[in-house]
Amino acid sequence: MEYYKITLEKDLLEWGKVLSVGELVQEINDKLVNKGFNKTNSRLVFSVCSDDCNRLAERETIEKALTKIFNREFHLGGLAAYPVGGVSGIVAASHHPPDLKTLDGRKERAGNLIIFASPHFGIIKKETLIYGSFIRPGQQKPTASCGAMMGFLSALKAAKNTNKLRPRVEDTSLDPSKKVLYKQLIANYSDRLNTLLKLDDVNNQVLELFKINHDLVESKLLQMIAEFKKKEPFSGNMAFISGITINTTDKDYFILKQIKYLN
Ligand SMILES: [Zn+2]
Repeated sequence: MEYYKITLEKDLLEWGKVLSVGELVQEINDKLVNKGFNKTNSRLVFSVCSDDCNRLAERETIEKALTKIFNREFHLGGLAAYPVGGVSGIVAASHHPPDLKTLDGRKERAGNLIIFASPHFGIIKKETLIYGSFIRPGQQKPTASCGAMMGFLSALKAAKNTNKLRPRVEDTSLDPSKKVLYKQLIANYSDRLNTLLKLDDVNNQVLELFKINHDLVESKLLQMIAEFKKKEPFSGNMAFISGITINTTDKDYFILKQIKYLN
């Protein structure tokens, strides 16, 4: 843990706090459970990548730890954690938390939502750490993680500039998650993506790519939540956790960016 933590913290330049699964659970206990969010009054809403590595039985994952504390989750996320479930998904999730009861058993208001937003990337440990891929349980060779974002980076490097980047996705209905992800990355983060290409160190390029991935997912979710609030009355409390999940072969780590309350 220390090697991962020290290296990541040095490379991240104070962008977030690097935590083991147990340390993240402790933070969540301090900031949410001790403030009244629990299994009997809250529903988890995940905006995480579809990639199975985030929930494989063989691995110690962030998802398993969170669902153990709060029960199972409503999923908004598509490839690279982009919240493809959208405003309608948030509206639906807002109808699902357990009712919050008063001491006399009377329903007082809706239960709470805990929004968890996290892109992910893998790390391979050799003489140094290599960001952007890892060796999955049962496999010998490394594969990309997050595949959607590392694929985007390869396409960006080949194109040399976002203006020349035309992802080969002809039919939105056949590849909706990738289509919207790539389009939104280019529409909102062209300057940062083009600056990223000028970085000498490949690990620093990958880190900046996933900071952008985080910022896209965070900003879209906050816009969607604002739209949801215009449409629907919601009397429960809402918490927002975001960061980047780190995949290694046997366990996850988490770069915690924030835990905050949205009302
Ligand atoms: Zn992924």
